[in-house]
Amino acid sequence: MLKQVADGVWVRQSDWVWSNATVVRGEAGLILVDPGIDGSDLNQLADDVDRLGIPVVAGFSTHPHWDHLLWHSRFGDVPRYATHGGAQAASEARERAQSMAAESASGIPLELIGLLTPLPDDGGPVPGEIVEHQAHAIGHAAVFLADRGVLLAGDMLSDVLIPLFDPRQDDQLRAFESALDRLAEAVRHVDVLIPGHGAVAEGPEVTARLAADRAYIDALRQGEEPVDARLEADWLAGIHQANVEQARSRSAG
Ligand SMILES: [Zn+2]
Repeated sequence: MLKQVADGVWVRQSDWVWSNATVVRGEAGLILVDPGIDGSDLNQLADDVDRLGIPVVAGFSTHPHWDHLLWHSRFGDVPRYATHGGAQAASEARERAQSMAAESASGIPLELIGLLTPLPDDGGPVPGEIVEHQAHAIGHAAVFLADRGVLLAGDMLSDVLIPLFDPRQDDQLRAFESALDRLAEAVRHVDVLIPGHGAVAEGPEVTARLAADRAYIDALRQGEEPVDARLEADWLAGIHQANVEQARSRSAG
């Protein structure tokens, strides 16, 4: 079910890691941001979008990880955009993304994974401002809809996921610090925050999300163990350990 969270902004959450597909109304029509995850999710999203009665004019992928590179023929043969870096990384990682998708969820149209075009400088049909940074993945983008007070954060600012370092880039502490600085500018003008995974945040919860990611990164920068409620989830232990090791090797080297 699509839930409207702001004027012309709807969210549908999947069971798979609380993934959020976001539908944004632009001037020319709808933009589907990170639609997912499994085949029945995608079909239900297509049904929901049909009910809105507005054509889909584009897709947008916040970053080149498989769960953000999905599409379905029912959304139409329209351009699917990402940042230059994101589109490039997605095309290089396409086969890997296809096999990860096949392993992780059923009914995903594998042939449609990761077919992205760099977003034109004027943003094309995608409304708002793209906040690009290198935290979590190359060419990661948030979409900041200032006029609607909404930020689509991709895999940042989640209540269920700690910051996830990109193992392919070597200074993720610094990448997160600068990404969070950039997102903080947007957050000041935002009432609704839509993370790639987890609950939509509203009101004061929005700045609390930013503070939680910052506190986590600050602790790793200091070589301390973060005090973070998200770490109570056992399934994040391995990810946290990998982050700690990357942070440590960075400060040692
Ligand atoms: Zn994700």
